[in-house]
Amino acid sequence: MVRKLLALAWLLPFPVHGGAVADIARAVRENSFDRDQCYRVRDLRVVKEDIKIYLTYGYLIFSKPVAGRRTAAVFSTDVEGGDGEVILLPPDRAERRSLAAFADTPNLNEHIRAVVLLFTGDVYDQLIGQIAANPANRKAPEMAPILDEEWSPVLRSLGASYQIRLTLDLLAGPAHADHLFAGMFRSTNLGTFDLIYDPDNIEQIMAGQLATRYNRLFFDVWTSFPSRSARQHPTPLVRDPQLADYRIDATVAPDLTLNAISRLKVTVKAASLAVVPFEIAREMSVTEVRVDGVPAEVLQAESPRLNLAHGGNDLFLVAPAEPLRAGREYEFEFHHSGKVIYEAGDHVYYVGSRGNWYPANGLRFSNFDLTFRFPRDLDLVSVGDTVEDRTEGFTRVVRRRTSAPVRFAGFNLGDFVHAKVERGGFVVDVCANRKLEPSLQPHPSLPQPIEVDAGRQRRPVLEPGYTFEPPPPNPLERLQTLAGEVASAMEFMASRFGPPALPHLTVSPIPGTFGQGFPGLLYLSTLVYLKNMPGTHTGDAPASTELFFQDVLQAHETAHQWWGNRVTAATYRDNWLMEALANYSALLYLEKRRGTHSLEIMLLNYRDSLLAKNEAGQTVDSAGPIVLGTRLESSQEPRAWRTITYGKGSWIMQMLRGRLGDDRFLALLAETMKRYDHKDISTEQFRLLAAEFLPAKSDDPKLQTFFEQWVYGTGIPTMKLSWTVKGTAPNLRLRGTVTQSGVDKDFTATVPVEIVLAKGRTMTQWVRSADVPVTFSVALKAAPLKVSLDPHYALLRK
Ligand SMILES: [Zn+2]
Repeated sequence: MVRKLLALAWLLPFPVHGGAVADIARAVRENSFDRDQCYRVRDLRVVKEDIKIYLTYGYLIFSKPVAGRRTAAVFSTDVEGGDGEVILLPPDRAERRSLAAFADTPNLNEHIRAVVLLFTGDVYDQLIGQIAANPANRKAPEMAPILDEEWSPVLRSLGASYQIRLTLDLLAGPAHADHLFAGMFRSTNLGTFDLIYDPDNIEQIMAGQLATRYNRLFFDVWTSFPSRSARQHPTPLVRDPQLADYRIDATVAPDLTLNAISRLKVTVKAASLAVVPFEIAREMSVTEVRVDGVPAEVLQAESPRLNLAHGGNDLFLVAPAEPLRAGREYEFEFHHSGKVIYEAGDHVYYVGSRGNWYPANGLRFSNFDLTFRFPRDLDLVSVGDTVEDRTEGFTRVVRRRTSAPVRFAGFNLGDFVHAKVERGGFVVDVCANRKLEPSLQPHPSLPQPIEVDAGRQRRPVLEPGYTFEPPPPNPLERLQTLAGEVASAMEFMASRFGPPALPHLTVSPIPGTFGQGFPGLLYLSTLVYLKNMPGTHTGDAPASTELFFQDVLQAHETAHQWWGNRVTAATYRDNWLMEALANYSALLYLEKRRGTHSLEIMLLNYRDSLLAKNEAGQTVDSAGPIVLGTRLESSQEPRAWRTITYGKGSWIMQMLRGRLGDDRFLALLAETMKRYDHKDISTEQFRLLAAEFLPAKSDDPKLQTFFEQWVYGTGIPTMKLSWTVKGTAPNLRLRGTVTQSGVDKDFTATVPVEIVLAKGRTMTQWVRSADVPVTFSVALKAAPLKVSLDPHYALLRK
């Protein structure tokens, strides 16, 4: 659920005059190389924090100036003896490991054939100074036309991607100290790859590569980390602008185009802000912006390369007539429209850009007052309590208001039938489509249960469809049951974690095989509404798939009312916590409803998915530690993010529960909610909190080993137990050996050995495994009835 955090403070001494933003953006987009600025160079050096680039010998050409500044250069080694080199050393083992997985080396030290540099800082001054200082460097006009022709198209294509970002920097002027620096390198070994220094990210340094695989385009993040100076002097990000009090008036046209006017209050922390960045789904075009009623300039453009890394949100800029001043509140009014609603057939609709159909900047809690106008033969549901509902001619007008601040305002529409359940002070309103979408008809193939993370901009993947014996299933047959079940899940969780994000929860269908849990509004796969999982009558559906659609998905999305919408994740590295907690809350509910066996079916299914191998023979689990978050969804193993986040995340909670015991584990969840309500939590904060709930005399009192292994590491071991009992009662001694295999030498886990003493009496011996067999011994008064290794799935193992 991470919308990229934009932390931008743009200081500008002068107001931006009409059209200035668009002019600069156009100049960036249409820039080319300056044939008077071509040199043959030796031993130049560009250092940007952790990125070191050596232009040893070759040709260098600068771009023409934009807004008085040169913003690009190309260095080519295409000359006898030409050479260049780039060096990037990640600061920790995890990042070195990540880099090695993609680039085959833990430290990047690569000879390059060419590099395109984009910059808004002092890179030009640095380079031109070095050129002048060494008489061996000379102008090379003979190469200028060749380089210009070869590289100007590349520059323009990069310019199209980076125009908004570069325009922001250029408008900030030389006073703004820190600037974007990006290098697009070509090397013989690694092909084309990017190194970026972006001062507006929490992790300023990033290396990665565009890769096409499985007919999909990926941006593989090789490594990402805070820059040297940010590591030495960590400073909290200034989150500008601050947005509050959303009032959105949206009209759904008969062709499903959404036209909206969004009004919000904007304040800034920076002393003066001339250009204000926002983001919105790329399907939405922002046609007009007013600041306190005065028209402002808007710049919105496609940036395909950045979008891939930013999850599909478009950055756009607003330049008010006067710069914004700190301490003043401004009223922004955005006019935007676009196609975010789709029809899946037979009056079944879905919303594509569920979390970013309105302008935002990062994810912050805010109140929403939403008015929707839509064709009266349809129904539209959204977050909040209904304060108005009327019909004007052919139009229905519904106004809703949130009773507490939320981070997303979703909506959904269709031809719905409702079932309402009130329980324990909460209202659950479940809507079902009257009809089944056409794609749920012919062809036998089983869906892979997936969930689309909130804020991520993927449209539902419509699976090919399923075989149904006639008559086809009816999407209304399970409506009442589903309403009761969501209400039960809500009650179950409220009794453990406290009240949900909002007291009113609407549940709405979405075609595809996923769900999404927004505050006050769930989207559930249309499959959840069917009585018999497609395929079950043919015996094709695994028990876990059926459990997923019948029980887990709705409970998981319900659990997001707490995890992700009350407590939130600090960064992309901590987002796994929200998913793991939501999924494990759903599994706790499943266990209560259907018994421990059902929980075990799900856990074993997750284990099998983690152990699945790719063509190279590597398990999905080995793709990387869970804290890499969405970086795990790479061209190397597209399944990894989903499988590890949900599967391994659930196992981590299951293992913690084993270490803590049931009561302490539940107390931990309640305390997490209490202590981090409406706050961010990081993985480390969760570790320390969990450690407070360990039983006394734990061998891992801060859970460091546990987190090192399962959260920050990879590996799933095989464990074997052998044991003997010697002596005569009542002086018996049980001696056992636990042998671990299939993992790295430094792997260690705490394994429970259960000893059944007499009917109903058991004791558990925890054994810390190691690379060598580990022995243990226990004094017993009578011979044990049974000795077994981890009989209750307290350890993820083969
Ligand atoms: Zn989720």
